Amino acid sequence: MRFADLHLHTCFSDSTYTPLELILGVAKAGLSTIAVVDHDTTEGIAQTIEIARLKDIEVLPGVELSAEHEGIEIHMLGYLIDYESKVLQEKLDYLKQNRIERIFKIVDKLKEVGVPLEPESVFDIAKQGTVGRLHIARAMVKEGLVSSTSEAFQKYIGDKCPAYVCGFKFTPIEAIKLIKDSKGIPVLAHPYTLHKDELITEFAEKGLMGLEVYYPEHSQSMVNFYLNLAKKFNLLVTGGSDCHGNAKSGIKIGAIKIPYELVEKLKDAKRNK
Ligand code: AMP
Ligand code: FE
Ligand code: FE
Ligand code: ZN
Repeated sequence: MRFADLHLHTCFSDSTYTPLELILGVAKAGLSTIAVVDHDTTEGIAQTIEIARLKDIEVLPGVELSAEHEGIEIHMLGYLIDYESKVLQEKLDYLKQNRIERIFKIVDKLKEVGVPLEPESVFDIAKQGTVGRLHIARAMVKEGLVSSTSEAFQKYIGDKCPAYVCGFKFTPIEAIKLIKDSKGIPVLAHPYTLHKDELITEFAEKGLMGLEVYYPEHSQSMVNFYLNLAKKFNLLVTGGSDCHGNAKSGIKIGAIKIPYELVEKLKDAKRNK
């Protein structure tokens, strides 16, 4: 039996793992296939594929885009994208710049509430790719301003907190369209975070092709519920750990392992597009 973890990040977004560290972990976990789905960037994909080849591990190219609908943050995964696509790279360049500007805004807000964090300490941690709130949280831990990344989110940079700054967000339909325009398969990430299942029906009618049914935070009853939804709307089923290395404690590579059969279905969907 071959198994896959289709939700992994690298240090090109907000995981602590370099492509090499990621692949060594994947080999140790006994997986045959992974997907790299960094936030708003594909910069880590080529390097990961190259290293993975040495260990006979298959890497599906992907991306995780942030969207928003009526105040709800929605993450859209794009699998098997043509990551060199010009339309995609133009958007990602914009998002990368937007994320840098957002760091300065967050740091300003932190100063206002008496937390002295320099932007440089954030950029020192986010050396490449895209920068985000998890880098801020890690910089805050490093500077001794909080004792954990989760404390940073809870007290300062989480949604509705004093130093929260909203980044650029697509509408879910725009994210779906961009992924399809880049020849990829749009899959709704960690659907439990929506707390509004009617939206899944709406997205399915507007081009969504899959649902991340298997996810560490999904209980067995949620899994059954999403499996039924996927069946009802003819959606592909995926799953993954969303491991961020040591940046988010507790979730290891391969925490979710899905049978290779589901990867085959994803590939079939791409072939039949
Ligand atoms: P951003 O895209 O910059 O808004 O950052 C969002 C990312 O921060 C998510 O994808 C997670 O990787 C991480 N994150 C969100 N909430 C938390 C939390 N409570 N603790 C740790 N990491 C978090
Ligand atoms: Fe993340
Ligand atoms: Fe996500
Ligand atoms: Zn993720």
